[in-house]
Amino acid sequence: MRLILLGPPGAGKGTQAIFLKKEFHFTHVNTGEILREEYAKKTELGIQAAQYWLKGNLTPQRILLQIFEKHLPQDNFILDGFPRTLSQARWLAKKRTIDKAIYITSQEKLIIQRLLKRAKLEGRKDDTLAVIKKRLHVYKNRTKPLLHYYKKNLIRINGDQSIPDVSNEIVKKLQ
Ligand code: AMP
Repeated sequence: MRLILLGPPGAGKGTQAIFLKKEFHFTHVNTGEILREEYAKKTELGIQAAQYWLKGNLTPQRILLQIFEKHLPQDNFILDGFPRTLSQARWLAKKRTIDKAIYITSQEKLIIQRLLKRAKLEGRKDDTLAVIKKRLHVYKNRTKPLLHYYKKNLIRINGDQSIPDVSNEIVKKLQ
């Protein structure tokens, strides 16, 4: 199966991707994580990409695809953080057929609380209140239109539930 995860930052995509990976043995590709690793390794592309994501902006496609392309598995994968724009979705459609898009929704108030809590635990540089607000704004403008793009394959999940309840809802709706 070839899955993508959609939803605002802080909706719980990463947590559910890790669950799905364990449950169904998918390869989990986390684009944000790949960008952070590339930055930590101080590669030229990693440093270029960070100029954008550190401020909450999307990394431009020409930089992002050079980093991402080699991480795209053939089959049995879950993409977490890609695609994030219509043009990325069109690029992906030429490479792979996507079976399902799992859309995890959540209330904005809850999202901000979660991300600020994560900031304390993980110390991610882009989890400050100003950058979180920017990321939510970018999500609404650039990524939300993908819900329409994937409407035939969309599974809608209520992300305001407990983590196990969200996982159960995903498993039920995937079957
Ligand atoms: P995430 O860990 O998924 O929240 O991603 C962290 C940041 O990396 C995002 O706020 C974006 O700036 C950048 N990023 C991740 N995935 C993409 C993508 N598909 N296209 C452009 N930028 C991305």
